[in-house]
Amino acid sequence: MADRPLAAVLTVGTEITTGLRLDTNTAHIAAACTAAGYRVTEAVSVPDDRDRIASAIARLARENSLLIVTGGLGPTHDDVTREAAAQALGRPLRRDPALVERLQAIADRHGDERAREQVLGQADVLEGARVIEPESGTAPGQVVEAGSSLVVLLPGPPSEMRPMLEEVLGSRRTAPEPIVLRCARIAESDAQLRVEDALAAFPKIELTLLASPALVDVVLMDAGAGRDALVEAAQAAALALGEACYSMDGASLPEAVVRLARATLCTLATAESCTGGMVASAITDVPGASDVFVGGVVAYSNALKRSLLGVPEEVLAEHGAVSRETAHAMASGALRLGARVAVATTGIAGPGGGTSDKPVGLVWTAVATPERVEAYRLKLHGDRQGVRQRSTVHALDFVRLTLERM
Ligand code: AMP
Ligand code: MG
Repeated sequence: MADRPLAAVLTVGTEITTGLRLDTNTAHIAAACTAAGYRVTEAVSVPDDRDRIASAIARLARENSLLIVTGGLGPTHDDVTREAAAQALGRPLRRDPALVERLQAIADRHGDERAREQVLGQADVLEGARVIEPESGTAPGQVVEAGSSLVVLLPGPPSEMRPMLEEVLGSRRTAPEPIVLRCARIAESDAQLRVEDALAAFPKIELTLLASPALVDVVLMDAGAGRDALVEAAQAAALALGEACYSMDGASLPEAVVRLARATLCTLATAESCTGGMVASAITDVPGASDVFVGGVVAYSNALKRSLLGVPEEVLAEHGAVSRETAHAMASGALRLGARVAVATTGIAGPGGGTSDKPVGLVWTAVATPERVEAYRLKLHGDRQGVRQRSTVHALDFVRLTLERM
């Protein structure tokens, strides 16, 4: 299979380069171009400055087979993308009579002659360009062949841009969808090295890793290998990642947990201290969680750990609230809520409260079934929220592993 054709995205607007507006067009267009089989080489943003827009268009059109430009096609003084494209591509602008006819009614609503002229300026079309009529809004899009490149000018507002982009690219997906191997409790670089080794036998597959606290998404993208090779490569990568990989179909960790609980007919309960309900919240975020989740207890004080979960007084006195023994007793106690599998968290989230033998970031989690209780000591980094988030991921992942072995 040949290498993919190259594409670039250029977003125009001083609101983008000054941070007044978030550039959402780039993500949308880059994903659509990738899905349509292009390799996106660059995403560039420039202010509403005719010379900068022109030089970006000239360069990106020269270096790519497709250039998608958004913004600067509206009716105000700073909308100069048309003029910049004319300058960059050496194509004069011609006023399109059909567009003038449509825009005249809008222009006539303005009392000021200058405003009327600015509205009609949207009827200026690059010589040889095909016009894309807007579904909403006033500014048309333009598609023009320039050398071996296709240059597409689209309006900035996302709702106006999207249907035009779809019209240009066709809604048909020509490249296989990326496969995401979602992993927990593995370092980003470990995941990368394991997968890179597994991918050595698979040319033309691109690898990207996206990390968030205690989670890594390993993304495999087709770079000319084709769908079958991509699937085969993903299977090899999953094997290399081993039990760190919890889903290959986009399911989140809580979704994977709920799905496994359903498949194994296991009910779940939580007993949380340092995570304060975050584990229960993550599970109940999943639609249909009520099929498997019976409920949970947030037992923050020792008194509630005793009264609600039956943690023995002696355990708390001898080992403290953050200990293997307490986590163990909390998880066992939560089984009495009527679940087949219960998970407990107890730890020191910080910033205060740490000691030399129990520092900030020390977290114990335990998973109990009627047959056995397994406790895990974690040393987590990050601020208070980071420790709590990581604790939540670890707790969910220990439940996932327990369910996988059922
Ligand atoms: P324009 O086509 O330059 O007149 O764009 C008009 C409006 O579209 C701007 O004020 C923004 O609110 C929005 N817009 C323009 N470019 C982008 C972009 N890259 N991402 C998201 N919104 C945009
Ligand atoms: Mg603008």
